[in-house]
Amino acid sequence: SKHVGGHTYHFYDAQLRTLAKRNRGLIRALPHALESGQIKIVYQPFFNAQSQKLCGFEVLVRWTHPEYGRIPADRLIRLAEEAGSIQELGSYVTEQACLLAREWPSDLLLSVNVSVGQLESKAFLPDLTRILQDTGFPASRLQIEVTESIFMEPDASTFTLLHSLRSQGIIIALDDFGKGFSSLGYLRFFPFSKIKLDALFVRDMLREPRAASIVRAVIELAIDLGVAVTAEGVETQEQLSYLTSLGCTEIQGYLLSHPLPPLEAMALLTRDGFP
Ligand code: C2E
Ligand code: CA
Ligand code: CA
Ligand code: CA
Repeated sequence: SKHVGGHTYHFYDAQLRTLAKRNRGLIRALPHALESGQIKIVYQPFFNAQSQKLCGFEVLVRWTHPEYGRIPADRLIRLAEEAGSIQELGSYVTEQACLLAREWPSDLLLSVNVSVGQLESKAFLPDLTRILQDTGFPASRLQIEVTESIFMEPDASTFTLLHSLRSQGIIIALDDFGKGFSSLGYLRFFPFSKIKLDALFVRDMLREPRAASIVRAVIELAIDLGVAVTAEGVETQEQLSYLTSLGCTEIQGYLLSHPLPPLEAMALLTRDGFP
């Protein structure tokens, strides 16, 4: 409100100070969290919408701090970017995931989220190259997910980097598609192989005609461009059926599976079709 009283103001001020202090505490705790194994990795499967076959797993981080409890993944990523340790965290996660995924059947993809801070890091490409070499995980089975926020400051080196990854056979997916703005231009100039339709549209499409229009348009656009489209956040059978009928390529979401710890992810490998 515009008429915030002195009291309320001080209350928010104190809250902000507490938050800032907690953030500093978490940032200081990050290096130890990595070394001591507080940061864990879970794997969320995605499936071919038409054949119902398992296509691969997306890698997601989990941090349970002994004092502060569960830290949401997007908050952890922001903290690591602030702390300047995002590349270290990203490399750790990627290496652990590649070590696990090299034991999987050879048609399964491993999909890793890469933040702006990572792409801007000089160490990103050398680290990735080393990880692929050390683990023997094939580049052609690695997918990286980037959001359009990497284009906020359009940069020739980002363009070059994405092309270089692409030429090594790495699959590049545009994450959270539709959530921000002006994504269409990026599709013209960057070598994306896949679009991940943001969960917000999937959530609303069956009760909001405008959300449905956007979902239909994105899937048609993907088909037209010859790129795959993954629908995120699929939670109901109705959403699954609708997306499949539109020709959506891949499905991900709680309906089919939550993100899983490594052993439970492995157990999915022996099953055929949707869980
Ligand atoms: P994202 O990449 O868009 O990941 C999808 C998020 O939606 C995940 O949240 C996942 O657990 C959640 N999700 C999956 N299916 C459903 C569903 O059916 N319904 C709902 N409501 N949610 C679903 P999570 O794990 O909390 O991650 C949040 C964000 O943090 C991710 O969004 C990603 O941007 C970032 N993130 C997570 N792990 C990493 C990582 O290792 N590296 C980087 N750079 N970012 C990461
Ligand atoms: Ca993602
Ligand atoms: Ca997403
Ligand atoms: Ca997201």
